Amino acid sequence: MHDPVDDMKVRVRCPECRTTFRERVRRVVHGDRIVCPRCHETMHFSGIDHHHVNEDVARFIHRVEERTCHSSVGY
Ligand SMILES: [Zn+2]
Repeated sequence: MHDPVDDMKVRVRCPECRTTFRERVRRVVHGDRIVCPRCHETMHFSGIDHHHVNEDVARFIHRVEERTCHSSVGY
């Protein structure tokens, strides 16, 4: 089933140049390769749970951004 939350965008902060940009939730949660638009640093985020059916969307986005906007970048 398609979850529209997957098409939303979250903020990602590059650990290298600290640029903040926006990336689709789907790509972040699936651990796709994400490239910084400024310095081309490659990032992967792993271990982020998918959106749960009953989870508040704002809460979910916050949960994802806790990982993508801070220093806990997994390679
Ligand atoms: Zn960068």
